[in-house]
Amino acid sequence: MGLERGDIAVVGAGVIGLMTSLSLLDAGRSVTLIDPDPPGQGASFGNAGVIANYGVKPLAEPSLLLTGPGLLFKKDGPLAIQPGLGRAVIPWLTQFARACLPWHQERLQKALASVIVDADARWQDVIHRVDASDEWQRKGCLYVFADARSRRQAERDARVRKRWGVACELLSEAELSQLEPSLSGRFTGATFFPDAAALSDPGAITQAIALELLRSGIKSHPGKVTKIYPLDESVEVRCAEGDCARFEQVVLAAGAHSQGLLQSLGISAPLISERGYHLEYEATLAVNRPVCSIAHGFYVSPMTGRIRAAGTVELGGVTLPPSNHRWEAIDRTMRAWFPELPEAHSRWMGHRPSTPDSLPLVGSAPASDRVLCAVGHGHVGMTLAPWTADAIVGLANGASTDPVLHPFRPHRFNE
Ligand SMILES: Cc1cc2nc3c(=O)[nH]c(=O)nc-3n(C[C@H](O)[C@H](O)[C@H](O)COP(=O)(O)OP(=O)(O)OC[C@H]3O[C@@H](n4cnc5c(N)ncnc54)[C@H](O)[C@@H]3O)c2cc1C
Repeated sequence: MGLERGDIAVVGAGVIGLMTSLSLLDAGRSVTLIDPDPPGQGASFGNAGVIANYGVKPLAEPSLLLTGPGLLFKKDGPLAIQPGLGRAVIPWLTQFARACLPWHQERLQKALASVIVDADARWQDVIHRVDASDEWQRKGCLYVFADARSRRQAERDARVRKRWGVACELLSEAELSQLEPSLSGRFTGATFFPDAAALSDPGAITQAIALELLRSGIKSHPGKVTKIYPLDESVEVRCAEGDCARFEQVVLAAGAHSQGLLQSLGISAPLISERGYHLEYEATLAVNRPVCSIAHGFYVSPMTGRIRAAGTVELGGVTLPPSNHRWEAIDRTMRAWFPELPEAHSRWMGHRPSTPDSLPLVGSAPASDRVLCAVGHGHVGMTLAPWTADAIVGLANGASTDPVLHPFRPHRFNE
C-alpha cells in the first residue's frame, strides 16, 4: 500500500523511532512509521545493552585534547578514524575538540545528568508496558582498570559522577574478584555502578516494542525517506521509492543516517557515525553483569545464552565497509581474558549516531515546529530512548518551553 496522508509520521524504526511511536500512540496520536528495513536492525540491534544511568560525562573531555590525537591514528585503538573517511570528519573533530575544553564540561555534564540519571525508572515502565521482564537485568555495571594511573583517573571520574547523583563505588582487586571471579588476577580494581541495569538482548526488546506497536494500531510503511518538506499547514514526506504524503507533524529518528535530512531542514549539525563492533560467543558464565574496560573501549555483556563483546569507536561514514582488524583486536583481548571461550559465532558492526558534544538533537527544526528531531544519541541511545520519546510527545502536543530541552536544541551548532 502507498504512503497515505496522516497525523504524525516517524522516520526511522530504531529504538528511538520505535519508543517514540509507542509513546505517541499512548498519547492518542495516529502514527505512521517509515523505514526501508524491518524494525530494530540498525545500531539498536547490536549494542552492549547497558542502561547507562551513570553516563553523565560526555565523550569529549579535556584529557582527550592531549591523548586523542595519538589515539585517532592507532589502528586498533579504542578511538580511531577509519582510513578513507577523508575530510568528512573535520567539522565533527573541530566541534569535538571545542567540546573537550574544560569550561564546557559543567554545562554538558549538567545537561546529560538532567535526562539520564532516571533512565532506569523510565525503562522499567517500558519493560512493564511491553511485558519483557525476562530481558531486564539489574546487577549493576563495572568499569575495570589495571594500573595505578587508571585508578587515580577512576577516582576523579567517580567524584564527578557523584556530584550529579550517580551511585558509584571504587572496588579493590579482591572486591572485584568477589563480584566477577572470572576476572581474578586480570584487573587491579573497578568502578562499580550498582544502580545500572542492562537488557539481556537489545534486539529482542526492539522486537517486543515493534509487536506492541502492531497491537496498538501503528501504520508501517517500508520506504527510505529522501525529503522532509515543511509546508504552511503540514509537512510533506517523500520516499526514494516514489511515495509522497503529507502529515500534520513528522519526527526524524533515522539515527546516523539523518545527516542529509537534517541539512535539508537547515540544521548543519555535524552528525557522524561512530562505528562500533561486536562479537558474540556461546558461553553463559564469563561475567555476571556488563563489564567495560575503558582502556580497550568495549563492554563484555552477558546476554541470553551468550556473551557479547561490544564497543570501540571508529569514526567512519555510513557507507564504508567494516574494518576486519577491529573484530580481530576485540577477539584477541577476549581470548586473553577468557582463554576457555569458544570461537565467536557472530560479528556485527553498527553506526552510533554521534554529535561532537555527546548531546542528542532533540527538539523542533528551525524551519518548522511541525518537524521534530530525535537523533544523535551516540553511546547512550538505548539508555535515553524513553526520555526522548516523552520529550517528543511533549513537543508534538505543543509543550515547547521545557527548559530541560534547551541544551539539546537541534540547531545549536548553527548559532
Ligand atoms: C557497539 C555499540 C555499543 C553500544 N552500547 C550501548 C549501550 O550499552 N547502551 C546504550 O544506551 N547505547 C549503546 N549504544 C548506542 C545505541 O545503540 C544507539 O545510540 C541507538 O541504538 C541509536 O538508535 P537510533 O534509533 O537513533 O538509530 P538506529 O538504531 O540506527 O535506527 C535508525 C533507523 O533509521 C532507519 N533509517 C535510516 N535512514 C532512513 C531513511 N532515509 N528513511 C527512513 N528510515 C531510515 C534505519 O533503517 C534504522 O532502522 C551502542 C552502540 C554501538 C554501535
